[in-house]
Amino acid sequence: MPSLRRTRKKLQKQVIRWTIWLGITLIFVLGMFSGFSWVERQVRGLNLPRTIARVNGEEIPRQQYEQALIRLTQFGSHRLSPQDWAFFKEQIFRELVDNELLRQEAYRRGLRVTRADINKRIDELVQLQLVSAKQQYERDKDFRDFVRRQYGSFDALASDLRRQLGRQRSAFEQDLLMEKLQRSIEQEVKVTEKDLLDTYTKFRLRHIFVSTDRFLPKGKQPTDQERVEAKRKALERAKELREQVIKGEDFTKLAERESDDPVTKRKGGDLGELSLDAARWRIGEDAMSILPKLKVGDVSEPIEGFNGYHIVKLEGKRVEPPEDYNKVRYRCEEKKCGNIWLGERGEKKCPKCGSTKIKQIGERKKELLDELKQQRVQERRMRLLQELRERARIEIYDPELKAIAASREGNTEEAIRYYREALKIALENPEARRHFLFPDLIHYQLSRLYMGQGKLKEAEREIRKALDYSDDNELHIQLGSILLLQGKKDAALKEFMKVAESSPTPSQRLVLANYFEQLGRKDLAEKQRKLAEKEGGSGGLSIPLTVR
Ligand SMILES: [Zn+2]
Repeated sequence: MPSLRRTRKKLQKQVIRWTIWLGITLIFVLGMFSGFSWVERQVRGLNLPRTIARVNGEEIPRQQYEQALIRLTQFGSHRLSPQDWAFFKEQIFRELVDNELLRQEAYRRGLRVTRADINKRIDELVQLQLVSAKQQYERDKDFRDFVRRQYGSFDALASDLRRQLGRQRSAFEQDLLMEKLQRSIEQEVKVTEKDLLDTYTKFRLRHIFVSTDRFLPKGKQPTDQERVEAKRKALERAKELREQVIKGEDFTKLAERESDDPVTKRKGGDLGELSLDAARWRIGEDAMSILPKLKVGDVSEPIEGFNGYHIVKLEGKRVEPPEDYNKVRYRCEEKKCGNIWLGERGEKKCPKCGSTKIKQIGERKKELLDELKQQRVQERRMRLLQELRERARIEIYDPELKAIAASREGNTEEAIRYYREALKIALENPEARRHFLFPDLIHYQLSRLYMGQGKLKEAEREIRKALDYSDDNELHIQLGSILLLQGKKDAALKEFMKVAESSPTPSQRLVLANYFEQLGRKDLAEKQRKLAEKEGGSGGLSIPLTVR
């Protein structure tokens, strides 16, 4: 079972990262734009650009990025590992880019936030704060006395709160703009009862798949032009096959002869019964809108799928709504009871207390419809963001962020060059640390990149330089693994032992256990696993693994 446990720990770590991440985004969106303007192009005394990037020409100031990083370091007592830093820097950067893209989209839609909008929001928040302040007192009188003593009057307290909130006007502006964008997206999404029933429908389908690959030149890497051409030909072919079916050719036989889907070809294209959601994955996104419009016996126009086109024959369908689909929701009006339940239409009394004072407060069908709507709005928002990202012109100026982006795209040489640039800035002036440029972290990243290239000597050199700056366990583990790859088993063992004796985290212990095993030291491995279990169990890491 150790491998399962390892996976769990790994997941837990991921979840912790994401939880911290969600925490900071919420905080930093509010605190972000406190807005003093930076006029100079570079950070004083450092060769570091004040604009980290431009998104479609609009600047993202370094200040926003650094404020988010400051909040990250203030968040809890969690100590960030080198990997965490790289992860959060990239996430924060992406978030800033997304915010900017959404802001631009809101403007494109003609959405604006007025002074009156902001004032209204501030008033609402003042009211909320007053209510929650009042709740801390048992008696109204105590609260009134407190206000009189501290502020003189309620009006004075309210205007004090208003003044404080007024400092965050630009944060409210961004929030309100995003809310307006959300409403604008919601208005675009219409969901009917038929749409809802479609999600409970099983479609019995056959398909013929025409793969794009079949039209690509053989034995060489195709050019973009050739890909486009192959796609066009595949679509053409799919249309021809559909014509043949319409003219009376047997779909099953045609599928056996012509389909490029090896799994269903022999079964005459039989896909069995698919829900709409399953069909979307099996066939393509457009199946979601096309399938519900087909009548039994119909053959669809070509549907674009992953790497080709499908023509689909609908052979039957049946709707299977959930059992509670037609139930209604009641609430018991008896003060002591307050029971809420789903029941049949026309119920007369509360199943819990027997009272007849019951009230129908909703329908299950409507609740399901709302859920579907929210889901579709969410999908639409994701798709919109995806499109905005694809169309966006993003120029990155910060060398470390450039390196992270290059590394993500697999351009290792480029990434190394940018990390060297960042390193130079970090070494020129110790002030760079205050701007979150850490030599040890850059050396660590360089080491990882060299390792990926199989350049173990360089990787070792970089990680040893990183260790000149900090004694971090992750760095020692990295050094140990590089030594191990070079066959220097004794030296590797020594590194791992060092980590084992300096109170590593439970997940680091599991990593160590793995290495000890590779070094033939089952005894040490077992010891680390036991300790990991013990410490992990008492460490209170009880975050559920289902968080997405
Ligand atoms: Zn009741």
